[in-house]
Amino acid sequence: MSAPDRAYELPAELEEFRSVIRALFADKIEPRAAEIDAMDEWPEDVYRVLVDNDLMGVGYPEEDGGSGGGQLAFGVFIEELSRVSAGVALTPIVSKLGVVPLMVAGTDEQRRTHTSAIARGELLMSYALTEPDAGSDAGALATRYVRGDETFTLNGTKRFITGAGVSHTYVVFATGDPALRTKGISAFLVGRDDPGVSFGPAEHKMGIHGSPTREVVLQDVVIAADRLIGAEGGGFAIAMRTLDYSRPVIAAQAVGIAQGALDLALAYANERSQFGKKLMEFEGVSFLLADMAMKVEAARMLTYRALAACDAGDPRTTFHASVAKCVASDNAMAVTTDAVQVLGGNGYMREYPAERYMRDAKITQIYEGTNQIQRLVIARELLKSLG
Ligand SMILES: Cc1cc2nc3c(=O)[nH]c(=O)nc-3n(C[C@H](O)[C@H](O)[C@H](O)COP(=O)(O)OP(=O)(O)OC[C@H]3O[C@@H](n4cnc5c(N)ncnc54)[C@H](O)[C@@H]3O)c2cc1C
Repeated sequence: MSAPDRAYELPAELEEFRSVIRALFADKIEPRAAEIDAMDEWPEDVYRVLVDNDLMGVGYPEEDGGSGGGQLAFGVFIEELSRVSAGVALTPIVSKLGVVPLMVAGTDEQRRTHTSAIARGELLMSYALTEPDAGSDAGALATRYVRGDETFTLNGTKRFITGAGVSHTYVVFATGDPALRTKGISAFLVGRDDPGVSFGPAEHKMGIHGSPTREVVLQDVVIAADRLIGAEGGGFAIAMRTLDYSRPVIAAQAVGIAQGALDLALAYANERSQFGKKLMEFEGVSFLLADMAMKVEAARMLTYRALAACDAGDPRTTFHASVAKCVASDNAMAVTTDAVQVLGGNGYMREYPAERYMRDAKITQIYEGTNQIQRLVIARELLKSLG
């Protein structure tokens, strides 16, 4: 029998990578996490820690200027970052979300230029699909484009855009003809400084503080024809393929948040005593922690499965991506809620990060397609599998 067990382990170099970045984040980012949450301002100093340690290039091909490792390495990076600050993790997450459309449909030149600039810490990207009247039903988007001789002119409003205002470049989805529904949608590269681009006020969110969320407003924005990504009319397919890559990354963010909450709750239960015993000696508490650990581990395995599917070009990536995103985010919500419970009154207080983990976990059930939408996708994939 050939060594089947290895299939269930991360490669040793990724475990080494994990221990190196865990130590770095514990030293440089964890001490800032509560302040970032309280101030809710984008922490440029923390972004610089990622750049200075060559982490913004993780998961991108070396020939494009990245440091290699693929989607699995990127997932481990995001998991560890989210273990200390889920808001900070969104900076590399959304830049990747901006590059994937170029990976799946852009020119070599578009992909290489953007990837290498992200890896050098000179470029941040965002992904602008959602609109006020087009959330789960993204195909109903109303942002319009009109083709000129050598240009496209864009008008519309994108809502809830992560990184808006901070990111330099936005992948914007717009329709040339709403009557064509999804077939009328194209994807474009739009610059923060392009005339006609402006941003709405900062949204006041429950969690993921330190990650800006704003509207992106496009008013008669004229861009050169070479800013089109892929073929005209191919935008919706690009948006959906991008989500296949990014949903496992949100799953990794959820696993990291849940692991952070579990580590905190375990340490607390082993420290605090009531009735003359450590909390961990009460079966009611230790079984709760055992259930939390099961949920984290199950989510992690599904997440690595989905990330590895992206790297392998597995035809069932859509299925694995939605399964991982849905299970990992639902489990993160449950685990972080239980962590607050283990800490008792302290769990409810801002002095401890348990309540932050709980607030941060909630978004993973909502963005990149709500978990209701993941179930729709999974059900559709099940039907497809019947042939
Ligand atoms: C903090 C934050 C950051 C975000 N960042 C980005 C970003 O960077 N780029 C971007 O493009 N978007 C972004 N989004 C948008 C996000 O992806 C959408 O909010 C999400 O897809 C849901 O859309 P909606 O808010 O319009 O909810 P709606 O679509 O109005 O859904 C409301 C409720 O109805 C349910 N529902 C809708 N349709 C169905 C159905 N067919 N069956 C069953 N239930 C259904 C939903 O699951 C949900 O519970 C972000 C959102 C937030 C909150």
